[in-house]
Amino acid sequence: MSKPTKVESISSKEGSITSPLRYTSIQDIPKGVDKLVASYHETHKMDSIQYRLNQIRNVYFAIKDNADLICEALEKDFYRSPSETKSLELGPLLNEIIHTMGSIYKWSKPEPVSDKTINVATQPVYIERIPLGVVLVISPFNYPLLLSVSAVVGALSGGNHVVLKQSESTPHFTQLLSDLLTDALDNDVFFAVNGAIPETTELLNQKFDKIMYTGNGMVGTIIAKKAAETLTPVILELGGKSPGFVFDINKKDLPTLAKRILWGKFTNAGQTCVAIDYLLVEESIKGPLVDELIKQAEVFFESPDHSSDITHIIHDRAYTNLVKTIKSTKGKIVSGGKTDDATRFIEPTIIDNVKFGDSTMRQELFGPVLPILTYSDLESTVKSVVKQHDTPLALYCFTSGKASRSTNPKIEYITKHIRSGGVVINDTLIHVALPNAPFGGVGMSGYGSYHGYFSYRSFTHERTFVEQAFWNDAILKSRYPPYNETKNTVIASAMVPHREWFGRSGDVQQPSIFFNIWNSVATLTSIGYTAVVNRI
Ligand code: NAD
Repeated sequence: MSKPTKVESISSKEGSITSPLRYTSIQDIPKGVDKLVASYHETHKMDSIQYRLNQIRNVYFAIKDNADLICEALEKDFYRSPSETKSLELGPLLNEIIHTMGSIYKWSKPEPVSDKTINVATQPVYIERIPLGVVLVISPFNYPLLLSVSAVVGALSGGNHVVLKQSESTPHFTQLLSDLLTDALDNDVFFAVNGAIPETTELLNQKFDKIMYTGNGMVGTIIAKKAAETLTPVILELGGKSPGFVFDINKKDLPTLAKRILWGKFTNAGQTCVAIDYLLVEESIKGPLVDELIKQAEVFFESPDHSSDITHIIHDRAYTNLVKTIKSTKGKIVSGGKTDDATRFIEPTIIDNVKFGDSTMRQELFGPVLPILTYSDLESTVKSVVKQHDTPLALYCFTSGKASRSTNPKIEYITKHIRSGGVVINDTLIHVALPNAPFGGVGMSGYGSYHGYFSYRSFTHERTFVEQAFWNDAILKSRYPPYNETKNTVIASAMVPHREWFGRSGDVQQPSIFFNIWNSVATLTSIGYTAVVNRI
């Protein structure tokens, strides 16, 4: 690793210490990126699927063999419980890597194109997915293992060379992961940059073939603007205020419901992009739900200020904002509320009787604070969500009624009117761990998606490949000048093999099977006719 450019003091679980993070020197950044660009063009190592697999295998074991060190680093950085690191980062990550390794050959097979035009009717046409080149991954502090390595593996699976810039807010972990990946990966293919804003700014002065940024929307805007200067495509994985609707709950489901809500909110001290930000609870069940949440919170967090299960807030700025938000709420704190400035600890806090204008409802909370709002009219509540915090990253509904959108009109109404990155009924967070479903936002929660095949697609270019021959010019002659009426007739019939099956008015139906058969026969006849006419 390069020499540090600065030595900072940080406050972590070990008290105030010198930051263990060795910042990459600004001069080394362009050199490091240039090296990856040059090796991309000169070596073509990553064209080989076998080479990609071997690189990803090295990442897998680097993580698996150092699981304890990873847990330890995150505990030092923000008191993260090793159990949370294992269940929310290590488990899903290793699972996704195995899934990717077992799928790359399948994903990288060219996809034949059907429905070909007359120009290539007899010839192979397919879609191949080629590497983009050198990509930059910028990752955040909150799930720094999963969010960094899942993106890096996705980019490697697509055959790219990768520069990784992690968050400076988890110094123990960031240094550890940079070292592990630098040792595990071919240094022609991977380069880790450690640092904060100046280092990221220097990185953004380099030309990449794609940038993936995960973090807050304000910085996302800076990244996207800078990338636009060089027409660099961007994936933005942002956050938002993800609501949880609660309706039609049976008494027997209350304890399970309360546990799932508390887990979805207070895991990682609420510093989860898909955490339930706030609850919207049907008026009739609010009382029993609040009682149950309080009861289960007592079981979860027996003596909160001494619990090693509770993660602390990442830095002073976030901690101060959250404390201010709690202090200025007009709602009623029914559980938690204690704070400790020295260790940036905030007790899991439940606030009842909250209204849309409350301090807790202005922006994404990203902390252990659960505001509870009550509603009686679903339609106007959904309208308020859309008006104030549209396009959240996640959308949750909890109900003892039917759990399916097709049989539960309330679920159908909510999910149809609120656009969100993902939807989960009767649980929280679990969709993020799916190794092969797209994870990403919409609107204000970002654009682009990844995980498994969706990472592979995001980090490759879909190239249409046509293998034309010379022998078939007989069918194609009518496209060449000099034009005449015969050629025009041929062009009209053969160049447009799809025929209309719909009228000018009425509902457009799908073509019938008989129409499709007739259309295929007519197309073949046109090709034959074309070949004959073009010979004359
Ligand atoms: P953070 O402070 O760790 O920052 C994220 C990255 O941005 C870091 O690498 C940091 O160095 C870099 N950065 C910060 N300021 C910068 C600047 N001015 N210019 C260039 N780079 C800069 O994390 P954060 O942004 O506080 O993360 C929390 C936010 O991220 C929340 O809104 C959360 O919802 C969102 N998030 C989204 C996802 C997702 O997958 N959609 C996942 C995690 C977090």
